[in-house]
Amino acid sequence: MAVHDPAHLEAWRADVRQWLASVSSPKAEEVFAWGEGDPRLAIFLSMSHDEETAYLDRVRKYRRQRFDAGYGAIALPAEFGGAGLPSEYAVAFADEEREFAVPPSSEIISVTTGLVGAAVSVFGTPEQREQFATAFLRTDLLCCQLFSEPGAGSDLAGLSTKAVRDGDDWLITGQKIWSSNAQFSQYGFLLARTNTDVVKQAGITAFLVPMDAPGVEIRPIRQMSGPSSFNEVFFDGARIPDAMRIGDVDAGWKVAQATLGFERSSSGSGHRRKGGTSADLVALAQHLGASKDPVVRQQLADVYVRTRLHAAMVARVARATASGDKPGPAGSLGKLLASDNMVRIGNAAAGMLGSAMVADTGEWGQFAWAEHVLGAPGYRLAGGTDVVQRNIIAERVLGLPAEHRADKGPFSELSRS
Ligand SMILES: Cc1cc2nc3c(=O)[nH]c(=O)nc-3n(C[C@H](O)[C@H](O)[C@H](O)COP(=O)(O)OP(=O)(O)OC[C@H]3O[C@@H](n4cnc5c(N)ncnc54)[C@H](O)[C@@H]3O)c2cc1C
Repeated sequence: MAVHDPAHLEAWRADVRQWLASVSSPKAEEVFAWGEGDPRLAIFLSMSHDEETAYLDRVRKYRRQRFDAGYGAIALPAEFGGAGLPSEYAVAFADEEREFAVPPSSEIISVTTGLVGAAVSVFGTPEQREQFATAFLRTDLLCCQLFSEPGAGSDLAGLSTKAVRDGDDWLITGQKIWSSNAQFSQYGFLLARTNTDVVKQAGITAFLVPMDAPGVEIRPIRQMSGPSSFNEVFFDGARIPDAMRIGDVDAGWKVAQATLGFERSSSGSGHRRKGGTSADLVALAQHLGASKDPVVRQQLADVYVRTRLHAAMVARVARATASGDKPGPAGSLGKLLASDNMVRIGNAAAGMLGSAMVADTGEWGQFAWAEHVLGAPGYRLAGGTDVVQRNIIAERVLGLPAEHRADKGPFSELSRS
Protein backbone atom coordinates (compact mmCIF):
# COMPACT_ATOMS: atom_id res chain seq x y z
CA MET A 1 0.00 0.00 0.00
CA ALA A 2 1.39 3.45 -0.94
CA VAL A 3 2.02 5.99 1.81
CA HIS A 4 -0.38 8.45 0.18
CA ASP A 5 -3.20 5.91 0.34
CA PRO A 6 -5.59 6.97 3.17
CA ALA A 7 -5.86 3.32 4.22
CA HIS A 8 -2.08 3.26 4.79
CA LEU A 9 -2.32 6.31 7.02
CA GLU A 10 -5.20 4.76 8.99
CA ALA A 11 -3.28 1.51 9.53
CA TRP A 12 -0.22 3.51 10.60
CA ARG A 13 -2.36 5.52 13.03
CA ALA A 14 -3.63 2.30 14.57
CA ASP A 15 -0.02 1.16 15.10
CA VAL A 16 0.79 4.53 16.66
CA ARG A 17 -2.16 4.21 19.07
CA GLN A 18 -1.07 0.70 20.01
CA TRP A 19 2.49 1.85 20.62
CA LEU A 20 1.37 4.87 22.67
CA ALA A 21 -0.83 2.58 24.79
CA SER A 22 2.23 0.39 25.44
CA VAL A 23 4.33 3.27 26.85
CA SER A 24 1.66 5.52 28.32
CA SER A 25 -2.00 5.64 29.28
CA PRO A 26 -4.90 7.58 27.76
CA LYS A 27 -5.21 11.12 29.10
CA ALA A 28 -7.80 11.39 31.84
CA GLU A 29 -10.55 13.88 31.08
CA GLU A 30 -9.83 17.12 32.91
CA VAL A 31 -12.63 18.00 35.29
CA PHE A 32 -12.15 21.50 36.62
CA ALA A 33 -13.14 22.14 40.21
CA TRP A 34 -12.39 25.50 41.82
CA GLY A 35 -9.85 25.20 44.63
CA GLU A 36 -8.53 21.77 43.66
CA GLY A 37 -5.03 20.94 42.45
CA ASP A 38 -2.45 23.22 40.90
CA PRO A 39 -4.07 26.25 39.18
CA ARG A 40 -1.38 25.90 36.40
CA LEU A 41 -1.43 29.50 35.27
CA ALA A 42 2.32 29.93 34.66
CA ILE A 43 3.41 30.64 31.09
CA PHE A 44 7.09 29.91 31.75
CA LEU A 45 8.09 26.90 33.84
CA SER A 46 8.83 28.03 37.35
CA MET A 47 11.10 25.34 38.76
CA SER A 48 14.39 25.01 40.54
CA HIS A 49 17.35 23.75 38.50
CA ASP A 50 16.96 20.26 40.01
CA GLU A 51 13.21 20.15 39.34
CA GLU A 52 13.73 21.22 35.73
CA THR A 53 16.48 18.61 35.26
CA ALA A 54 14.12 15.91 36.57
CA TYR A 55 11.33 17.18 34.28
CA LEU A 56 13.64 17.12 31.25
CA ASP A 57 14.81 13.61 32.20
CA ARG A 58 11.20 12.39 32.08
CA VAL A 59 10.63 13.96 28.66
CA ARG A 60 13.94 12.59 27.35
CA LYS A 61 13.14 9.06 28.50
CA TYR A 62 9.90 9.20 26.50
CA ARG A 63 11.59 10.80 23.45
CA ARG A 64 14.16 7.96 23.37
CA GLN A 65 11.40 5.37 23.40
CA ARG A 66 9.66 7.31 20.66
CA PHE A 67 12.78 7.53 18.48
CA ASP A 68 13.58 3.84 18.96
CA ALA A 69 10.03 2.95 17.89
CA GLY A 70 10.56 4.86 14.61
CA TYR A 71 8.47 7.93 15.50
CA GLY A 72 11.32 10.33 16.32
CA ALA A 73 11.66 12.16 13.00
CA ILE A 74 8.62 11.16 11.04
CA ALA A 75 8.81 13.60 8.11
CA LEU A 76 12.60 13.69 7.82
CA PRO A 77 13.76 11.86 4.66
CA ALA A 78 14.99 8.31 5.29
CA GLU A 79 18.50 9.15 3.95
CA PHE A 80 18.79 11.67 6.78
CA GLY A 81 17.75 9.22 9.48
CA GLY A 82 14.01 9.96 9.55
CA ALA A 83 11.00 7.80 8.74
CA GLY A 84 10.65 9.57 5.36
CA LEU A 85 6.87 9.81 5.60
CA PRO A 86 4.74 12.69 4.27
CA SER A 87 4.05 15.55 6.72
CA GLU A 88 0.47 14.35 7.23
CA TYR A 89 1.90 11.42 9.20
CA ALA A 90 3.69 13.81 11.57
CA VAL A 91 0.43 15.74 12.02
CA ALA A 92 -1.45 12.46 12.60
CA PHE A 93 1.14 11.36 15.20
CA ALA A 94 0.74 14.65 17.08
CA ASP A 95 -3.07 14.17 17.04
CA GLU A 96 -2.80 10.68 18.48
CA GLU A 97 -0.15 11.69 21.01
CA ARG A 98 -2.42 14.42 22.40
CA GLU A 99 -4.82 11.72 23.58
CA PHE A 100 -2.15 10.13 25.82
CA ALA A 101 -0.55 11.25 29.06
CA VAL A 102 3.00 11.44 27.63
CA PRO A 103 5.36 13.96 29.27
CA PRO A 104 4.68 17.29 27.53
CA SER A 105 7.56 18.58 25.46
CA SER A 106 9.43 21.77 26.24
CA GLU A 107 11.23 24.33 24.11
CA ILE A 108 14.71 22.80 24.43
CA ILE A 109 13.38 19.37 23.40
CA SER A 110 11.68 20.85 20.31
CA VAL A 111 14.78 22.89 19.42
CA THR A 112 17.08 19.87 19.82
CA THR A 113 14.96 17.39 17.87
CA GLY A 114 12.90 19.49 15.47
CA LEU A 115 15.48 22.11 14.55
CA VAL A 116 19.06 21.14 15.33
CA GLY A 117 18.72 17.36 14.93
CA ALA A 118 17.10 17.89 11.55
CA ALA A 119 19.67 20.53 10.49
CA VAL A 120 22.65 18.33 11.37
CA SER A 121 21.00 15.41 9.55
CA VAL A 122 20.56 17.46 6.39
CA PHE A 123 23.63 19.73 6.38
CA GLY A 124 26.13 17.70 8.42
CA THR A 125 29.01 15.64 7.07
CA PRO A 126 28.71 11.84 7.42
CA GLU A 127 30.93 12.07 10.54
CA GLN A 128 28.76 14.80 12.06
CA ARG A 129 25.63 12.84 11.31
CA GLU A 130 27.08 9.78 12.94
CA GLN A 131 28.27 11.66 16.01
CA PHE A 132 25.36 14.04 16.54
CA ALA A 133 22.22 13.56 14.46
CA THR A 134 20.81 10.51 16.25
CA ALA A 135 22.04 11.80 19.62
CA PHE A 136 20.02 15.00 19.09
CA LEU A 137 16.97 13.28 17.60
CA ARG A 138 16.94 10.87 20.60
CA THR A 139 17.68 13.76 23.03
CA ASP A 140 20.75 11.90 24.35
CA LEU A 141 22.36 15.33 23.90
CA LEU A 142 20.50 18.63 24.21
CA CYS A 143 21.37 21.59 21.99
CA CYS A 144 20.20 25.19 22.46
CA GLN A 145 19.75 27.76 19.71
CA LEU A 146 22.41 30.49 19.73
CA PHE A 147 20.97 32.82 17.08
CA SER A 148 19.71 36.05 18.71
CA GLU A 149 22.08 38.78 19.91
CA PRO A 150 21.51 42.05 21.76
CA GLY A 151 21.75 43.84 18.37
CA ALA A 152 20.19 41.14 16.18
CA GLY A 153 16.77 39.63 16.92
CA SER A 154 14.14 40.54 14.34
CA ASP A 155 17.04 41.48 12.08
CA LEU A 156 18.85 38.18 12.66
CA ALA A 157 21.05 38.54 9.58
CA GLY A 158 22.62 41.60 11.25
CA LEU A 159 24.38 39.41 13.84
CA SER A 160 27.95 40.32 14.74
CA THR A 161 29.40 37.49 16.88
CA LYS A 162 32.62 36.73 14.98
CA ALA A 163 34.24 33.45 13.99
CA VAL A 164 37.83 33.93 12.79
CA ARG A 165 39.76 31.09 11.14
CA ASP A 166 42.91 29.96 12.99
CA GLY A 167 44.47 26.91 11.30
CA ASP A 168 42.08 23.99 11.73
CA ASP A 169 40.06 25.91 14.31
CA TRP A 170 37.77 28.92 14.59
CA LEU A 171 37.96 31.50 17.34
CA ILE A 172 34.53 32.74 18.43
CA THR A 173 34.04 36.15 20.06
CA GLY A 174 30.78 37.89 20.84
CA GLN A 175 27.52 37.58 22.73
CA LYS A 176 24.23 35.75 22.29
CA ILE A 177 21.06 36.38 24.27
CA TRP A 178 17.65 34.82 24.92
CA SER A 179 19.32 31.39 24.69
CA SER A 180 16.51 29.23 26.08
CA ASN A 181 17.70 26.43 28.38
CA ALA A 182 21.38 26.90 27.47
CA GLN A 183 22.17 25.90 31.07
CA PHE A 184 20.75 22.41 30.39
CA SER A 185 22.42 21.99 26.97
CA GLN A 186 25.61 20.13 26.10
CA TYR A 187 25.83 21.90 22.73
CA GLY A 188 24.74 25.17 21.14
CA PHE A 189 23.81 25.70 17.49
CA LEU A 190 25.60 28.96 16.71
CA LEU A 191 25.40 31.45 13.86
CA ALA A 192 28.52 33.60 13.57
CA ARG A 193 29.86 36.18 11.14
CA THR A 194 32.74 34.90 9.02
CA ASN A 195 32.79 37.53 6.28
CA THR A 196 32.09 41.27 6.51
CA ASP A 197 32.81 42.12 2.86
CA VAL A 198 29.53 40.75 1.52
CA VAL A 199 25.85 41.54 2.18
CA LYS A 200 24.86 40.62 5.70
CA GLN A 201 23.12 37.32 4.85
CA ALA A 202 26.09 36.07 2.78
CA GLY A 203 28.78 36.22 5.51
CA ILE A 204 27.33 33.92 8.19
CA THR A 205 28.46 30.38 9.11
CA ALA A 206 26.78 27.79 11.36
CA PHE A 207 28.67 25.82 14.06
CA LEU A 208 27.99 23.36 16.84
CA VAL A 209 29.66 24.58 20.02
CA PRO A 210 30.27 22.48 23.16
CA MET A 211 28.78 24.61 25.92
CA ASP A 212 31.56 23.62 28.32
CA ALA A 213 34.39 24.73 25.97
CA PRO A 214 36.89 27.19 27.49
CA GLY A 215 35.84 30.75 26.58
CA VAL A 216 32.09 29.98 26.65
CA GLU A 217 30.23 31.47 29.61
CA ILE A 218 26.51 30.96 30.29
CA ARG A 219 24.79 33.55 32.46
CA PRO A 220 21.14 32.80 33.34
CA ILE A 221 18.78 35.78 33.24
CA ARG A 222 16.24 36.03 36.05
CA GLN A 223 12.85 36.88 34.52
CA MET A 224 10.27 39.12 36.17
CA SER A 225 7.97 36.07 36.37
CA GLY A 226 10.55 34.26 38.59
CA PRO A 227 12.33 31.51 36.63
CA SER A 228 15.48 31.68 34.51
CA SER A 229 14.39 30.16 31.22
CA PHE A 230 16.87 32.25 29.25
CA ASN A 231 20.55 32.98 29.29
CA GLU A 232 23.15 35.27 27.94
CA VAL A 233 26.03 33.34 26.39
CA PHE A 234 29.42 35.04 26.07
CA PHE A 235 32.24 33.90 23.77
CA ASP A 236 35.72 35.10 24.59
CA GLY A 237 37.95 33.60 21.90
CA ALA A 238 36.36 30.14 22.28
CA ARG A 239 38.30 27.68 20.08
CA ILE A 240 36.07 25.42 17.96
CA PRO A 241 37.50 22.85 15.52
CA ASP A 242 36.50 23.26 11.87
CA ALA A 243 35.01 19.77 12.17
CA MET A 244 32.18 21.41 14.15
CA ARG A 245 31.17 23.68 11.26
CA ILE A 246 27.72 22.78 9.87
CA GLY A 247 27.47 23.45 6.14
CA ASP A 248 29.84 25.49 4.01
CA VAL A 249 31.72 28.58 5.15
CA ASP A 250 29.48 31.66 4.62
CA ALA A 251 26.46 29.43 3.89
CA GLY A 252 24.99 29.72 7.41
CA TRP A 253 21.98 31.81 6.34
CA LYS A 254 20.79 28.92 4.18
CA VAL A 255 21.27 26.55 7.15
CA ALA A 256 19.41 28.98 9.44
CA GLN A 257 16.49 29.39 7.03
CA ALA A 258 16.15 25.63 6.55
CA THR A 259 16.45 25.08 10.31
CA LEU A 260 13.60 27.47 11.05
CA GLY A 261 11.60 25.82 8.25
CA PHE A 262 11.96 22.40 9.94
CA GLU A 263 9.81 23.76 12.75
CA ARG A 264 6.83 23.44 10.44
CA SER A 265 7.43 19.81 9.51
CA SER A 266 8.63 18.55 12.90
CA SER A 267 6.23 16.17 14.53
CA GLY A 268 4.88 18.79 16.92
CA SER A 269 4.65 16.71 20.06
CA GLY A 270 2.22 17.91 22.72
CA HIS A 271 3.47 20.99 24.48
CA ARG A 272 2.55 21.74 28.03
CA ARG A 273 -0.24 24.22 28.37
CA LYS A 274 0.87 27.83 28.69
CA GLY A 275 -0.93 30.07 31.12
CA GLY A 276 -4.61 30.60 31.87
CA THR A 277 -7.29 29.84 29.27
CA SER A 278 -10.60 31.52 28.51
CA ALA A 279 -12.26 28.72 30.55
CA ASP A 280 -10.03 29.60 33.55
CA LEU A 281 -11.12 33.20 33.15
CA VAL A 282 -14.82 32.25 33.18
CA ALA A 283 -14.22 30.17 36.35
CA LEU A 284 -12.50 33.15 37.98
CA ALA A 285 -15.35 35.52 37.03
CA GLN A 286 -17.91 33.10 38.44
CA HIS A 287 -15.93 32.61 41.65
CA LEU A 288 -15.61 36.36 42.15
CA GLY A 289 -19.28 36.96 41.30
CA ALA A 290 -18.19 39.17 38.41
CA SER A 291 -19.88 37.27 35.60
CA LYS A 292 -22.86 39.64 35.58
CA ASP A 293 -20.65 42.69 35.14
CA PRO A 294 -21.28 43.95 31.57
CA VAL A 295 -17.62 44.84 30.94
CA VAL A 296 -16.38 41.48 32.25
CA ARG A 297 -18.99 39.68 30.12
CA GLN A 298 -17.71 41.46 27.01
CA GLN A 299 -14.14 40.49 27.87
CA LEU A 300 -15.11 36.85 28.43
CA ALA A 301 -16.94 36.69 25.09
CA ASP A 302 -14.04 38.44 23.35
CA VAL A 303 -11.35 36.01 24.56
CA TYR A 304 -13.61 33.00 23.93
CA VAL A 305 -14.17 34.04 20.30
CA ARG A 306 -10.44 34.66 19.85
CA THR A 307 -9.64 31.27 21.41
CA ARG A 308 -11.92 29.58 18.86
CA LEU A 309 -10.42 31.62 16.01
CA HIS A 310 -6.95 30.58 17.10
CA ALA A 311 -7.96 26.90 17.22
CA ALA A 312 -9.38 27.23 13.68
CA MET A 313 -6.14 28.83 12.48
CA VAL A 314 -4.02 26.08 14.09
CA ALA A 315 -6.19 23.48 12.36
CA ARG A 316 -5.77 25.33 9.05
CA VAL A 317 -1.96 25.39 9.42
CA ALA A 318 -1.98 21.67 10.32
CA ARG A 319 -4.08 20.89 7.22
CA ALA A 320 -1.70 22.92 5.02
CA THR A 321 1.31 21.14 6.55
CA ALA A 322 -0.33 17.75 6.15
CA SER A 323 -0.93 18.34 2.47
CA GLY A 324 2.69 19.40 2.01
CA ASP A 325 1.97 23.14 1.60
CA LYS A 326 3.84 25.87 3.41
CA PRO A 327 1.48 27.52 5.91
CA GLY A 328 2.78 30.95 4.81
CA PRO A 329 1.12 33.95 6.43
CA ALA A 330 -1.42 31.70 8.23
CA GLY A 331 1.47 30.88 10.61
CA SER A 332 1.88 34.61 11.34
CA LEU A 333 -1.85 35.05 11.92
CA GLY A 334 -1.90 32.08 14.30
CA LYS A 335 1.10 33.36 16.25
CA LEU A 336 -0.40 36.83 16.51
CA LEU A 337 -3.82 35.54 17.62
CA ALA A 338 -2.20 33.36 20.31
CA SER A 339 0.08 36.00 21.83
CA ASP A 340 -2.56 38.74 21.64
CA ASN A 341 -5.17 36.54 23.34
CA MET A 342 -2.70 35.59 26.07
CA VAL A 343 -2.30 39.29 26.87
CA ARG A 344 -6.10 39.90 26.74
CA ILE A 345 -6.76 36.97 29.10
CA GLY A 346 -4.14 38.31 31.53
CA ASN A 347 -5.54 41.85 31.37
CA ALA A 348 -9.09 40.64 32.03
CA ALA A 349 -7.90 38.58 35.03
CA ALA A 350 -5.90 41.52 36.37
CA GLY A 351 -8.96 43.79 36.04
CA MET A 352 -11.09 41.38 38.08
CA LEU A 353 -8.48 40.59 40.73
CA GLY A 354 -6.99 44.03 41.33
CA SER A 355 -4.60 43.94 44.30
CA ALA A 356 -5.26 40.21 44.92
CA MET A 357 -3.06 39.54 41.90
CA VAL A 358 -0.05 41.45 43.22
CA ALA A 359 -0.18 40.39 46.89
CA ASP A 360 -0.71 36.76 47.82
CA THR A 361 -3.83 36.55 50.01
CA GLY A 362 -3.58 32.77 50.14
CA GLU A 363 -6.81 32.45 48.10
CA TRP A 364 -6.56 29.57 45.62
CA GLY A 365 -6.12 30.54 41.96
CA GLN A 366 -5.81 34.30 42.47
CA PHE A 367 -2.16 35.33 43.01
CA ALA A 368 -1.29 32.54 40.54
CA TRP A 369 -2.54 34.82 37.74
CA ALA A 370 0.51 37.04 38.34
CA GLU A 371 2.64 34.38 36.64
CA HIS A 372 0.41 34.51 33.55
CA VAL A 373 0.47 38.32 33.38
CA LEU A 374 4.24 38.51 33.82
CA GLY A 375 4.93 35.72 31.30
CA ALA A 376 2.64 36.89 28.48
CA PRO A 377 4.89 39.68 27.11
CA GLY A 378 7.61 37.09 26.34
CA TYR A 379 5.29 35.39 23.87
CA ARG A 380 4.75 38.67 22.04
CA LEU A 381 8.48 38.51 21.20
CA ALA A 382 9.37 34.82 20.87
CA GLY A 383 9.41 33.35 17.37
CA GLY A 384 9.13 36.78 15.72
CA THR A 385 7.53 39.77 17.45
CA ASP A 386 3.89 40.81 17.03
CA VAL A 387 5.02 43.78 14.96
CA VAL A 388 7.10 41.61 12.65
CA GLN A 389 4.10 39.25 12.20
CA ARG A 390 1.99 42.30 11.31
CA ASN A 391 4.61 43.36 8.76
CA ILE A 392 4.41 39.91 7.17
CA ILE A 393 0.60 40.06 7.05
CA ALA A 394 0.70 43.61 5.64
CA GLU A 395 3.10 42.66 2.86
CA ARG A 396 2.02 39.11 2.01
CA VAL A 397 -1.72 39.11 2.72
CA LEU A 398 -2.77 42.72 2.20
CA GLY A 399 -0.22 43.45 -0.53
CA LEU A 400 0.88 46.71 1.09
CA PRO A 401 4.20 48.23 -0.04
CA ALA A 402 7.27 46.45 1.36
CA GLU A 403 9.25 48.06 4.17
CA HIS A 404 12.17 50.24 3.09
CA ARG A 405 15.35 48.17 3.44
CA ALA A 406 18.41 50.37 3.56
CA ASP A 407 21.08 47.81 4.57
CA LYS A 408 21.74 46.14 1.24
CA GLY A 409 25.50 46.81 1.00
CA PRO A 410 28.42 44.82 2.50
CA PHE A 411 28.11 44.19 6.26
CA SER A 412 31.32 46.19 6.88
CA GLU A 413 29.61 49.32 5.50
CA LEU A 414 26.52 49.06 7.73
CA SER A 415 26.41 51.40 10.71
CA ARG A 416 26.25 48.49 13.22
CA SER A 417 29.42 46.66 12.05
C1 LIG B 1 10.31 33.17 25.08
C2 LIG B 1 11.47 33.47 24.16
C3 LIG B 1 12.34 32.44 23.78
C4 LIG B 1 13.41 32.70 22.93
N1 LIG B 1 14.31 31.70 22.67
C5 LIG B 1 15.37 31.96 21.88
C6 LIG B 1 16.40 30.98 21.68
O1 LIG B 1 16.37 29.89 22.27
N2 LIG B 1 17.44 31.28 20.87
C7 LIG B 1 17.54 32.46 20.22
O2 LIG B 1 18.50 32.63 19.46
N3 LIG B 1 16.62 33.44 20.40
C8 LIG B 1 15.54 33.21 21.23
N4 LIG B 1 14.60 34.20 21.46
C9 LIG B 1 14.80 35.52 20.84
C10 LIG B 1 13.73 35.92 19.84
O3 LIG B 1 13.94 35.26 18.63
C11 LIG B 1 13.81 37.45 19.74
O4 LIG B 1 13.37 37.99 20.98
C12 LIG B 1 12.94 37.99 18.64
O5 LIG B 1 13.40 37.61 17.38
C13 LIG B 1 12.89 39.55 18.70
O6 LIG B 1 14.17 40.07 18.71
P1 LIG B 1 14.62 41.15 19.81
O7 LIG B 1 14.19 40.65 21.16
O8 LIG B 1 16.07 41.43 19.60
O9 LIG B 1 13.77 42.45 19.52
P2 LIG B 1 14.10 43.54 18.39
O10 LIG B 1 14.24 42.87 17.08
O11 LIG B 1 15.21 44.42 18.85
O12 LIG B 1 12.76 44.36 18.40
C14 LIG B 1 12.53 45.43 19.33
C15 LIG B 1 11.21 46.07 18.98
O13 LIG B 1 11.30 46.65 17.65
C16 LIG B 1 10.28 46.13 16.82
N5 LIG B 1 10.78 45.92 15.47
C17 LIG B 1 11.88 45.22 15.09
N6 LIG B 1 12.00 45.24 13.74
C18 LIG B 1 10.95 45.96 13.25
C19 LIG B 1 10.53 46.32 11.95
N7 LIG B 1 11.20 45.95 10.87
N8 LIG B 1 9.40 47.08 11.85
C20 LIG B 1 8.71 47.48 12.95
N9 LIG B 1 9.07 47.17 14.21
C21 LIG B 1 10.17 46.41 14.37
C22 LIG B 1 9.91 44.78 17.46
O14 LIG B 1 8.60 44.39 17.12
C23 LIG B 1 10.06 45.08 18.93
O15 LIG B 1 8.90 45.69 19.42
C24 LIG B 1 13.58 33.99 22.37
C25 LIG B 1 12.71 35.02 22.76
C26 LIG B 1 11.70 34.79 23.66
C27 LIG B 1 10.85 35.94 24.11
